[in-house]
Amino acid sequence: MQSNPTDTPLSFSNFSLAEPLLSAVKKMGYQTPTPVQQQAIPLALDYKDLLVSAETGSGKTAAFLLPTLDHLLTLTSTSFGTRALILAPTRELAQQIFKQCQQLIEYTDLTIGLITGGEDFRLQQNMLRRNTEVVIATPGRLLELMEQEIPNFTHLEVLILDEADRMLDMGFSEDVLSIANSCNAQRQTLLFSATLTHFGVIKMADKVLKNHEVVALNTLHDGHRNIEQQIIVADDNDHKQKLLAWLLLNETYDKALVFTNSRIQADTLRGPLRGQKLRVGVLHGEMDQKERNRMMELYRDGEVKIMIATDLAARGLDIKGINLVINFDVPRNGINYIHRIGRTGRVDELGLTIALVKSTEWNLMSGIERFLKQKFKRRTIKELEGKYKGPKKLKASGKAAGIKNKIEPKKADKEKVKVRHRDQKNIGKRRTPSEPKPVEPQEPST
Ligand code: AMP
Repeated sequence: MQSNPTDTPLSFSNFSLAEPLLSAVKKMGYQTPTPVQQQAIPLALDYKDLLVSAETGSGKTAAFLLPTLDHLLTLTSTSFGTRALILAPTRELAQQIFKQCQQLIEYTDLTIGLITGGEDFRLQQNMLRRNTEVVIATPGRLLELMEQEIPNFTHLEVLILDEADRMLDMGFSEDVLSIANSCNAQRQTLLFSATLTHFGVIKMADKVLKNHEVVALNTLHDGHRNIEQQIIVADDNDHKQKLLAWLLLNETYDKALVFTNSRIQADTLRGPLRGQKLRVGVLHGEMDQKERNRMMELYRDGEVKIMIATDLAARGLDIKGINLVINFDVPRNGINYIHRIGRTGRVDELGLTIALVKSTEWNLMSGIERFLKQKFKRRTIKELEGKYKGPKKLKASGKAAGIKNKIEPKKADKEKVKVRHRDQKNIGKRRTPSEPKPVEPQEPST
């Protein structure tokens, strides 16, 4: 089912999209379709269900919005109710899709609406009652609304699940499935995910897609060609703080994003950085929606150039000009790492990402390198060189060779053979007369 494009169009006009959409694309300054757009748009225009692996920054939003809006413009609908529903994991991502959709429908009469938590419930109910044609929603709030009064998705033409892997990681699997089940069964479904190596994504694809095509653009091992990836080793968190301040004062960047694994660590960094006269913002899940929106705005407008964030901000954050991402804490796994560094080096930009790694994080970092099949560049800052230089001895895997591994297993352990209960059950047991004899293979009679 792998899609295999042959003649890749070089401009949006090759897609034979409706005229108002082409005008909007032109106004937005898109000249050449990105790879995901080149592959996904023709298939989606052909009403195919799609499973697409593409990361944020690849142009995936327009890859699903353009064909969807084209359907809505070219098919005359006799139905009522929502015609296209887009589900996204976070409010921020839903807002960004909404903004892009607003720009794309500028020359049309299509109506769109946004449904996310933290906003007025009644206004959202009214919007659904008005049969808004395109609805962009986070699953939690949409389900809440659906419990009050079922929105009309029985005539839905297109269902889009954006960042499905993230929705699953956030525990939305059941919500997404129950929303999908209440939608018109004849709809077209487009499922986008940063990775296809997520078991849950494949399971979900089985449940919601029909005869789908796969567009696999981004496998985890593709690498991020426009992002330089570096590692700096550190003695401890104090040393990391000094390195972080140095990098933020000496690197060239438009906007920097610093990731921590915890809200507490994010808050802790703010003081020392401000002490260095650096203007920093903090973004994490414990902040109320108003404060989060304000922070995002300051960052988007460039009033704050440095943002310290937990993983909440890692997905779907589409802010131009982030060209430095620093992992103050090493992320917990390779997928998280991808999502974090995906904030930099967007469509036409170059980015630098630096991980600060202390001894206890070495194995985690080398596991991430192995997972991505990449070796990141080791870097030192001369004036801040610490005592820790990385493990003295490395295993072939790149992990630190520890004393623990030198201990030979006990002889008795080595020779232990697993004996299953079921293997013992029939030892010496006779067949009772009622038990059939095992059947011997017979020669065919000629
Ligand atoms: P996305 O991956 O959808 O989050 O898109 C990342 C950024 O790329 C957004 O700011 C889009 O407006 C922009 N973009 C999308 N498609 C194109 C294109 N064909 N040419 C230039 N920029 C694009």
